[in-house]
Amino acid sequence: MVRLNENYLKLPGSYLFAEIADRVTAFKKENPDVDVISLGIGDVTKPLVPSVVEAIRKAADEMGCEDTFRGYGPYQGYDFLAEKIIRHDFISRGIELSMDEVFISDGAKSDTANFQEIFGQDNVVAVTDPVYPVYVDSNAMAGRLGDYDSSTGKWTNLVYLPCTAENGFVPALPEKKVDIIYLCYPNNPTGTVLTKEQLKVWVDYARDNKAVILFDAAYEAYITEKDIPHSIYEVEGAKDVAVEFRSFSKTAAFTGTRCAYTVVPKSVVAYTRNGEAVPLNRLWNRRQTTKFNGTPYIVQRGAEAVYSEEGQKQIREMISYYMENAKIIRTGLESLGLSVYGGINAPYIWLKTPAGYDSWQFFDKLLKEAFVVGTPGVGFGPSGQGYFRLTAFGSRENTEKAVERIKNLKF
Ligand code: PLP
Repeated sequence: MVRLNENYLKLPGSYLFAEIADRVTAFKKENPDVDVISLGIGDVTKPLVPSVVEAIRKAADEMGCEDTFRGYGPYQGYDFLAEKIIRHDFISRGIELSMDEVFISDGAKSDTANFQEIFGQDNVVAVTDPVYPVYVDSNAMAGRLGDYDSSTGKWTNLVYLPCTAENGFVPALPEKKVDIIYLCYPNNPTGTVLTKEQLKVWVDYARDNKAVILFDAAYEAYITEKDIPHSIYEVEGAKDVAVEFRSFSKTAAFTGTRCAYTVVPKSVVAYTRNGEAVPLNRLWNRRQTTKFNGTPYIVQRGAEAVYSEEGQKQIREMISYYMENAKIIRTGLESLGLSVYGGINAPYIWLKTPAGYDSWQFFDKLLKEAFVVGTPGVGFGPSGQGYFRLTAFGSRENTEKAVERIKNLKF
């Protein structure tokens, strides 16, 4: 008799986005003439930049020609891309990496979800709360989190690190010892960042406790403030305890094209029962060579073009466009007297809902009275209750229109 992985049965339904879709559909059905604007999406709207399109076209031509056709590529990705990643994203910040420490992939979602596979079942996992749900669900599927308690919205064996206005969105070290720590900065959903000193607290913790940090820097390109670290490896000692995930999705409109990379320094280890230290690089390589056959050549050529002079200029313009949207949202909401966070080093704006509104009540108010869709903060974890996320990925016109409508609301 075939048996299920019953951990899958413990997962709560994809409540958040299904519920949002249901409420929006119902509203549109009752109000067919209303123009509803979504500032809830986590997807980009601007197209691939011309340098990338040109590189992809050229690569497609190569693939259609007998002399230049390529079959399976290297598991870890092509050297032409790894070399540019290292030079542009790391050496420029004083971080040395070797080519075999970079694993090019088809997405930070799959990498952040899959990485837990190489860790033992009995590790204690910690996540910041609110959180990008992939870290939680992938560990729940693996059976590491105990049971989901719907009355608290928490997994029984997961350590939650609350990030709220009260602590300035800076997670405090856990009271209970943890082994695997997920950090995401710039943060989705709060849009907040950590300084080098604040990150160092975690690096030191990981070093002292033989723990590992899984650092998701998918929004690194949105950092505008000078002193904010773009990579965890800017923090002294991080190369011994941290794995870093990067993505071309939000940096260069690759959400539908798919390219990302994960840095696994050879000095990062996990331990056997006997206390023997084993480099994660070796195991991740083993995992990837077994389960992944490489990112398409055409896509990697497109990603390479992101690093050309012209490509950099073009993606910078695109990011500035979104960050101008972020500013419009932020200043618009602030002018209403709302407490607003993020939107300076990230494309996400996280706001405290006005007194008397929880996350979902605010969602309904915005939908029904301003015809604007956002994301209720509680959907990202229990500490997101009483918060709300808006994104800067819409068009300028829609962003301005949405902010004007919100300004006309009475709270
Ligand atoms: N990490 C975070 C924090 C994200 O918000 C997202 C996408 O929304 C991802 C990773 C996924 O990135 P990718 O498109 O590379 O899979």
